[in-house]
Amino acid sequence: MCNFTVEPDERTMVELCDTGRRRYAEAIERGSLDAGLATDCLLELRLLEPGSDGQLVPVAPATAATLLLAPLRRSSQRQIEAIASIEGVYAAGPGVSRGEAGRQRRHAADPGGGEHQLRATGRGGRVP
Ligand SMILES: [Zn+2]
Repeated sequence: MCNFTVEPDERTMVELCDTGRRRYAEAIERGSLDAGLATDCLLELRLLEPGSDGQLVPVAPATAATLLLAPLRRSSQRQIEAIASIEGVYAAGPGVSRGEAGRQRRHAADPGGGEHQLRATGRGGRVP
């Protein structure tokens, strides 16, 4: 019967089971299938769609694939673009040199003007 694998944060993954394959072949042969005979995998894979009188009609695999995969491809493309954007920030660097970063760090740790006091004393160390 239907075999579902659920990955964390992923769409349900589906395989077409043997029963699903037989029922899909029946639907193609007869032109429709009773809704009660549809397997979960056929519905999940969109290989059947509602027809008239409560019957389900077969959908061509290429059409079903397009319908199912289009939103996943769009979502995947957005993630690829987000990754590239973030990588671009790291690749460009934070935009400050090591010396500048050190001065900013000291100033942030001593906003009272420690750097100015260092200049005033002419010494290399911090003013007590
Ligand atoms: Zn199945």
